[in-house]
Amino acid sequence: MKRVLSGIQPSGQLTLGNYIGAIQNFVKLQETHECYFMVVDLHAITVPQEPAALREQTESVAALFIAAGIDPAKASVFAQSHVPAHAELGWLFTTLSYMGELERMTQFKDKSSGKESVGTGLFVYPTLMAADILLYNADLVPVGDDQKQHLELTRDLAQRFNQRFGDTFTIPDPYIPKVGARIMSLDDGTKKMSKSNPNPGSYIALLDPPDVIRKKISRATTDSGREVRFDPAEKPEVSNLMSIYAHCADMTLDDIAARYDGQGYGAFKKDLAEHVVAKLEPLQRRYADIRGSGEIHDILKRGAEQVSAVANETLRAAKERMGFLLPR
Ligand code: ATP
Ligand code: MG
Repeated sequence: MKRVLSGIQPSGQLTLGNYIGAIQNFVKLQETHECYFMVVDLHAITVPQEPAALREQTESVAALFIAAGIDPAKASVFAQSHVPAHAELGWLFTTLSYMGELERMTQFKDKSSGKESVGTGLFVYPTLMAADILLYNADLVPVGDDQKQHLELTRDLAQRFNQRFGDTFTIPDPYIPKVGARIMSLDDGTKKMSKSNPNPGSYIALLDPPDVIRKKISRATTDSGREVRFDPAEKPEVSNLMSIYAHCADMTLDDIAARYDGQGYGAFKKDLAEHVVAKLEPLQRRYADIRGSGEIHDILKRGAEQVSAVANETLRAAKERMGFLLPR
């Protein structure tokens, strides 16, 4: 069975972008693949996190995985920091990476732009991500379009290691959805929706109450026209709202354009909000049950136990090939 691995940072409230771009594929892939889904807390601290918030968000992301339909009986769900091999293999890959290739990463450029001081963690982030994936010799990595470049670097690092030290790592392939791979910000159709955006009006959080969702969508930026038409170049904001609509209402973009022909944005946005509310309602109900039961701690503990043997074995093999004297 092919192996799948992916992770989400507990760096804020999960958004509809995370759901459409990543989590909904996790749910599908668990039926046919051996799956590893992590809350990547070590990545979240590459930008400052308040300790209490980090703890809460880690639990919240794990509970949202389950609420969204990930079944811990089918997939291993765990926290990255519960498996120390991630940090250790991450260091080994950091030493194999070059400044130049990390400087080219657009996520680094985006997240560091305009900042007076930029943390080194943010810079070496992709080497830890490579370790996350390669530690389990994953075949497939379901991610949004924004992670494509990091995945290419992961492939390069795996190949570099294999060439220098002998065949050790599987070269992973990205698995990016055809529709919804990049959901854009509600306040700026040229920027991707991100949970760490300081303006909550820029994203729809999976846990936003219905009235907040309605308000955010009614305030979402649109162009000055009135035509509901899918044209990402000319009408990025409206096109993005149409993608969200298509996903939540399970309709095609053509059907949506036809339905709102000649009606302007008002009716379109109003219906969109109701479709988003309806889509998230069952997930929010399940989330409340899971948090209430406290079961998430057991799920994470079991998950870390399940994956540790594979992780430790890969790390041992990598260290041996690199020439570390292993304890006997
Ligand atoms: P942050 O702002 O802290 O980086 P994020 O919203 O980008 O948060 P990540 O934890 O970095 O979320 O990414 C989790 C997964 O969600 C990745 O697979 C990523 O590609 C995907 N993803 C993130 N944003 C979007 C988006 N706007 N559209 C589609 N997929 C997305
Ligand atoms: Mg991100």
